Amino acid sequence: MSAVKDLSLRSVLDAAADAMLLTENSGRIVLANPTAQQLLGYGPDELKGLTVEMLIAPQYRKQFRYYHKLFMSKPAKRPMHEGNELIALDREGKEMLLEISLSPIKAKQQLYVLIIFNAANRRLDAEEALRTSEERLRLAKQAAGLGIFDYDFKRNIIYWDKQMRKLWGKHTEKTVSYEEFVAAIHPDDREARQAAIDKAMDPNSSGEFKAQYRIVNPVNGAERWISARGRVYFESGCAHRLIGVTRDVTEQKCIEKKLQVQRGETENILKQQVAVRTASAIAHELNQPLAAISAYSEVVLHALDNESFIAPHLRRALQGCVEQAQRAGRSLHELLAFLQKGELITEQSSLAEIIHEALNFVYEDGYGRFYPLLRLQQDLPLVQCNRTQVQKVLVNLFRNAIEAMNITDSPLLTIITEVQTIGSQQFALVSVQDNGPGLDTSVSKRIFEPFFTTKSSGIGMGLAISRALIEANGGQLWIDANNRPGATFQFTLPLVP
Ligand code: ADP
Repeated sequence: MSAVKDLSLRSVLDAAADAMLLTENSGRIVLANPTAQQLLGYGPDELKGLTVEMLIAPQYRKQFRYYHKLFMSKPAKRPMHEGNELIALDREGKEMLLEISLSPIKAKQQLYVLIIFNAANRRLDAEEALRTSEERLRLAKQAAGLGIFDYDFKRNIIYWDKQMRKLWGKHTEKTVSYEEFVAAIHPDDREARQAAIDKAMDPNSSGEFKAQYRIVNPVNGAERWISARGRVYFESGCAHRLIGVTRDVTEQKCIEKKLQVQRGETENILKQQVAVRTASAIAHELNQPLAAISAYSEVVLHALDNESFIAPHLRRALQGCVEQAQRAGRSLHELLAFLQKGELITEQSSLAEIIHEALNFVYEDGYGRFYPLLRLQQDLPLVQCNRTQVQKVLVNLFRNAIEAMNITDSPLLTIITEVQTIGSQQFALVSVQDNGPGLDTSVSKRIFEPFFTTKSSGIGMGLAISRALIEANGGQLWIDANNRPGATFQFTLPLVP
């Protein structure tokens, strides 16, 4: 017990692991233990004589004085962890959050206060977290090229960040009057932008603000496109501020404009191509009947010139003119219907019949003599197709075959037309083979291209149109390069299910 008596207050404080300050009731420090000195960064005895208030961060001193007075009016123990916290300054002026306990000590009519304190990490952690999140936001803003604005309606000013100030060419001004802000906006875009703001300010609206406008930099006159988004906040039903972000979308706008121009150009080219193809297809359809009409008319003229006409002959020639003109009309009508992509009318048809009709057609048109050989599968099922269109394809193939064979010396021009079913009875396969010169590989690669022709009076649309017609009927048309001599074209058509 006597040993304890020998212990001085100072030696107890010096040995304590917690930081301790002993103050007079005025707040003046009379004793500071080494842990306190270390925590606050002071040398031995440097704290003595200072007031506690001086250790408090200036912005909290007023608050401190209030609580100090309150404590002194009714001194009582205040243990730690009861929310007693102070933002103190160390010797370097760095803020630190301290958790404190207060113990009043009365000695010889004098009131002392023992302050025990520790550094609390909690708020500092929170501050650090805030700093990190602010930094993250800053980096994200920078990466996305976003500017932030806060438009205070009442004061009619806009708070804006660096990014926006840079765009508006007002680098230093932290706020700008609304009028100044609007002055930089392209006059043509002001009205639409203001309308978007007015709409967002309507208390019955969602408050959402969205606008795109140009700004003109007052320094260099450069024009930039801005995309702005934000939200109006209301206070007692009244719009009071608009907070939002802006983004420079000039590059995007340029690309959009370029694409638009390109799209327009492509559309024009396409329109031209369609026009040329349509004209070519029409020419293809009219070529034959016009040639026939011209031949018949020449016969009539010749007979009239020589006054050697025999009425029935004249009649036959004129009848030929009428038929060819009617045929041309029909062909054009069908072609237009096909080009307009009206609904394709198909029917259950016999391929044998269509082939016979096509052969008759070719004969009547006088394309030349040839020997037709038919190899049709027994009990051939019906196909589902548009008869006129398939007939047209066959006439084209026969005509090409005859024209090709005519330039050979072969005494017997043969066209073999073969039909069989394929693909487990789903399709009919039609082959048209001639004994003409056939096609070079280089030529056969291009024959389906529109306008490809090797003939002096050819248009080069026959096979392109034929392929389109067969495809429209649910089949395919190709050249069988392996089947020689001569040329073999094949196409499929769907059988009636
Ligand atoms: P066009 O008859 O006006 O030339 P097509 O598209 O019908 O147009 O034919 C394109 C080209 O394909 C022809 O110019 C010709 O060179 C070639 N061709 C088509 N059919 C045959 C065939 N049976 N034999 C040889 N060449 C052919």
